[in-house]
Amino acid sequence: MPDRYKTVLLFGAPGAGKGTQGKILGQIPGFFHLACGDVFRSLDTTSDLGAKFLDFSSRGELVPDELTIEMWRQNMHAQTVLSLFKPKVDLLVLDGIPRNLGQAEALAPYLDVLSIIHLVCPDLDAMIQRMKKRAIKENRLDDADERVIRRRFEVYDRETSPVLQYYPAKLVTEVSAMGSPAEVLEHVLEAVVPVQNTHFHNPL
Ligand code: AMP
Repeated sequence: MPDRYKTVLLFGAPGAGKGTQGKILGQIPGFFHLACGDVFRSLDTTSDLGAKFLDFSSRGELVPDELTIEMWRQNMHAQTVLSLFKPKVDLLVLDGIPRNLGQAEALAPYLDVLSIIHLVCPDLDAMIQRMKKRAIKENRLDDADERVIRRRFEVYDRETSPVLQYYPAKLVTEVSAMGSPAEVLEHVLEAVVPVQNTHFHNPL
């Protein structure tokens, strides 16, 4: 069993900006961003797993844990084999996983969680507006329908938010998700750069 991946978790409700921040971080050498939702969306919808994803996500529900963890494991393996992710050099930035306690437990053998960025947005309406905008921009069916959006928030409150308590509180940094992407990034970097410096030797 190889070493566990040194990991930062991007945590927060749907629409809080995890994907935006993750994509920016992923552009910086020494960070590798993986969004579970993006991996699901890249599946062929005629495959078994792709069809299951469509079924669950179009209702705002989570894909069952066993399928999700297996897909995540295979994807991480592929990224590593292709050297897109280099565990000895890159800090793994995970977004959208783990999404419940079962997933957190299933991932524990694979992840060395060094930091958790909790993107906090108390303004539900602002998040819903963001989600509707991206539904159009990114052609996301699950964010086009307000009933599905509300279901996604219910699932987040019930299943995902307890995941924060699974990890030691000292790992968690709360960052306001209300500012511009650049403002939010400033605070995200304040939290993750020291983690990178402590755990990796990054030559200039
Ligand atoms: P996201 O792009 O993270 O908002 O995810 C979109 C949809 O993909 C979710 O509503 C779920 O249906 C599915 N999904 C993404 N990540 C997970 C996960 N870790 N566990 C189960 N389902 C997930």
